[in-house]
Amino acid sequence: MRAYNFNAGPAAIPLPVLERAQKELVNFNNTGMSVMELSHRSKDYEEVHNKANSLLRELLGIPDTYEVLFLQGGASLQFSMIPMNFLQENKTAHFIMSGAWSEKALKEAKMFGETRILASSKEENYKHIPKDYSLADTEDGAYLHITSNNTIYGTQWNEYPTSSIPLIADMSSDILCKEIDVEKFSLIYAGAQKNLGPSGVTVVIAKKEFLETANENVPTILNYSTHVKNNSLYNTPPTFAIYMLSLVLEWVKEQGGVKKVQQINEEKAGAIYSAIDHSNGFYKAHATDDSRSLMNITFTLPNEELTKKFLQEAKERNFIGLAGHRSVGGCRASTYNAVPKEACEALASFMNEFRDNNK
Ligand code: PMP
Repeated sequence: MRAYNFNAGPAAIPLPVLERAQKELVNFNNTGMSVMELSHRSKDYEEVHNKANSLLRELLGIPDTYEVLFLQGGASLQFSMIPMNFLQENKTAHFIMSGAWSEKALKEAKMFGETRILASSKEENYKHIPKDYSLADTEDGAYLHITSNNTIYGTQWNEYPTSSIPLIADMSSDILCKEIDVEKFSLIYAGAQKNLGPSGVTVVIAKKEFLETANENVPTILNYSTHVKNNSLYNTPPTFAIYMLSLVLEWVKEQGGVKKVQQINEEKAGAIYSAIDHSNGFYKAHATDDSRSLMNITFTLPNEELTKKFLQEAKERNFIGLAGHRSVGGCRASTYNAVPKEACEALASFMNEFRDNNK
């Protein structure tokens, strides 16, 4: 029996994708071997690789003026690669701080040059996306970095900043959950293990014009242009993860594309937020109303004891992964694209029932 999987990442993968991978596992495309056993220089693998690229372009409406790369090292390596490549001397990397992942990105950038925090909601335990910031004097900016969705705190940007300097977003936990205008960004990056498939591959979407501004003297493997020139095949890519990514993208397309998936995500999150909002204060959302995430729903119960009991009973009912991150406490339901609507509705009913039995 499949669990109701609310893990924050690695996270749920659509069942039809897993079943297809299982079916194709020992003999992919009549090659007599698994995708994992194919040469990354073979035509069969190349087709998988290029299909993942073109499907992502199609689903997100990525223009030809952008490159799509499949890298390794997780989103965490992007925290370093970005300043290495794009933080020039005499320039400043600007940051809007909305959570622990923004802090990690900032920490790495500091190793390579000047940084400046434009705004932060840290004082309020990152319960909202900072609103009071000015982009007025950022002319010295190499770029402005944001975290579009804060996996730990359960907050998400609704309206991205309109910046005159290149905008960079860590979209690890909300890429493909809703329609976006890619052209607002110079670079988008995301680890795959939440909304795109298994861990092991990191997607980078970058404007060609911006890539041309990169610093020289960056180690070959950490230089974006290396991967651009080699279609992300400079060295051995994580072939199986990219294959899984291509299957997940096909699945998103079959669902009706990002627009349809967004609508379903709104219904899914809506069911759980509604259980919180109609609980007479039994459940309290961590995020403020204007910053609520579609992907990570964070909430607390009246006390530690009830939280433990809730998590225990949830587990007995097959709801997995609901413990909140230690820095926020309470509970977190990650409702990524692959989490079925039925799972979210079942969780909402369980929350109502638990409240009725314990208020
Ligand atoms: N950014 C965000 C928003 C994340 O949620 C995570 C992982 N939870 C990371 C970055 C780090 O990703 P990785 O483990 O792929 O390095």
